[in-house]
Amino acid sequence: MEQTLVILKPSAVIRGLMGEVISRFEKKGLIIAGMKMVQLDDKILAEHYAHLVSRPFFPSLKKSMMVSPVVVMCIRGVDAVAVVRAMTGATNSRKAEPGTIRGDYSMSGQQNIIHASDSVENAEIELARFFDKSEIFDFKPAMLDYLYADDEI
Ligand code: UDP
Ligand code: MG
Repeated sequence: MEQTLVILKPSAVIRGLMGEVISRFEKKGLIIAGMKMVQLDDKILAEHYAHLVSRPFFPSLKKSMMVSPVVVMCIRGVDAVAVVRAMTGATNSRKAEPGTIRGDYSMSGQQNIIHASDSVENAEIELARFFDKSEIFDFKPAMLDYLYADDEI
């Protein structure tokens, strides 16, 4: 099964939306395989958002990601990367479809509630950035037999 990284951004933590967002992933049938609260700093944000460091909004993005701790999550499931991205919605929350997390809970292109890895390759890199191997748990939830057909997993 695939694994992907989700970050509950300060916009979720401060607005009291952590439970709502986590609950969506649980109800979907995704497995939460790792989760912890961390304070991000300049160094890790320059790495994580390396593709954006030269953009004019980067200082503001970095600041917005450090105003409170964030929650980092490892989410597991068949096609988890694409499923979680679809649940996340478009980057600009005002354009994100209703029914997506950004579409339902935010109005901003920056304060957009969560980060989700955009490819299987990046998910692996990003999970290694935020988690030790020992912090990701390989357990079998009892519900697994009812989440997928035998030939899907
Ligand atoms: N962002 C921003 N202004 C922009 C584009 C992006 O502030 O014009 C922020 C926003 O918080 C976004 C993050 O930078 O979630 C990462 O941008 P990316 O293009 O990777 O979007 P995402 O993968 O988060 O949808
Ligand atoms: Mg991105």
